Amino acid sequence: MPKPLDRSLMLPAALAAGLLAGAFVGWLAGGHIATGVALVAIAEIVLLLTRIRHQARLMMTTSPTVTSLQHDRFMTRSRRIASSLRDLRSAAGSLPDAVVLLDNEQHVRWFNHAAEELLGLRRPQDRGAHLDERLSTTELATWLQEGAREPLNDVAAPGHPNRHINVTLLPFGRRQRLLLARDISHLTRLEQIRRDFVANVSHELRTPLTVIHGYLELIDPEDVPELAPVLNEMRAQSKRMGQIVEDLLTLSRLETQEHVQDERVPMTPLLATLRKEAEALSQGRHQVTLEATADVDLLGSPKDLHSALSNLVSNAVRYTPTGGRIVIRWRRTADGAVYSVTDTGYGIPASHLARLTERFYRVSSSRSRESGGTGLGLSIVKHVLNLHQARLDIQSEPGQGSTFSCWFNNQRLLVPGDPE
Ligand code: ADP
Repeated sequence: MPKPLDRSLMLPAALAAGLLAGAFVGWLAGGHIATGVALVAIAEIVLLLTRIRHQARLMMTTSPTVTSLQHDRFMTRSRRIASSLRDLRSAAGSLPDAVVLLDNEQHVRWFNHAAEELLGLRRPQDRGAHLDERLSTTELATWLQEGAREPLNDVAAPGHPNRHINVTLLPFGRRQRLLLARDISHLTRLEQIRRDFVANVSHELRTPLTVIHGYLELIDPEDVPELAPVLNEMRAQSKRMGQIVEDLLTLSRLETQEHVQDERVPMTPLLATLRKEAEALSQGRHQVTLEATADVDLLGSPKDLHSALSNLVSNAVRYTPTGGRIVIRWRRTADGAVYSVTDTGYGIPASHLARLTERFYRVSSSRSRESGGTGLGLSIVKHVLNLHQARLDIQSEPGQGSTFSCWFNNQRLLVPGDPE
């Protein structure tokens, strides 16, 4: 029979079990083990403080003739709780993530060592300070002032400008808040290495591919009829590889770009070009129509916008069987304008929609390849729209068709002919 646990060990064991459970829940919630431990540690600190207060109150309210045995017991318990409290504080204090406990008015009540390092908080002067005033002029302060509803991703750490952090604000206890900041500098660095690698490889592949493609073009299949099918396949594949390399280079450029060079993009000629491109690609297999009711131009990069908007047109043609209809629309909305392409094609099952803009994500690889797709088109569209503060919306019904819409806000619209 297992021996019952020594009473003196029960509290520390329960606290340790709580921390383990916190780590497990944190891991389940997306690998945030330290965050889970931090939350449980803080909850346990509050619990222990409440317990001490409760016991002290009991001592005060019980009869004045407390026996010395009762007194000793109380003292032993208090010491045990105080020691557990110290352990928990030192555990929370040495967490790698910054943890700041805030009261209901965002005054700092407590913070750990990582908060000193990442957020630049100082002891003791910052205890009781108003956090957004203390961090004023940083992105973090603006985020706090705006209510911190969504987590803040990838911002410079106020205490260490070379480091990058993700920040979350969680409700805690009675109208208190817990600010958690995680150092993601190593992830940012890895992401940068990945980007550079893709850009360098694509760049290196560009010249040999151009040479191979050039030589293949020089050989006339009629001179070597027995190799004609092979030659045609080689040409098609080298063209596809060239297109993948070009798309990867475009993506690398878009990823590193923070802004676009703003220029007027006249929509009337652009829409006419898009329609012509659709017709050329379709070669009479589809009915293509244009409905332009918004008399506004766009402000942004003409080359990138053309590439994004024509990607949607090309997808509509490639994923719509012969006889289908394609409608290109440009219309005003309450707070901007929408460019959309509707087709009556294969459609996309709902489970794929959220991942369509990932690189190389395809609903059907064979269909994409057969139609000459690189798997990078929608990724390019998303990046171009992000650079124009616009968003992509996808509505689709398998077997019925799809509508891809680009929503632009008023700041991106210009009245035709207006010099502004
Ligand atoms: P691809 O070069 O493969 O077309 P994209 O990034 O442009 O790459 O599109 C990703 C995937 O989304 C495609 O492979 C296809 O499965 C799906 N898709 C895109 N547009 C449409 C559409 N209009 N109708 C149906 N499926 C589409």
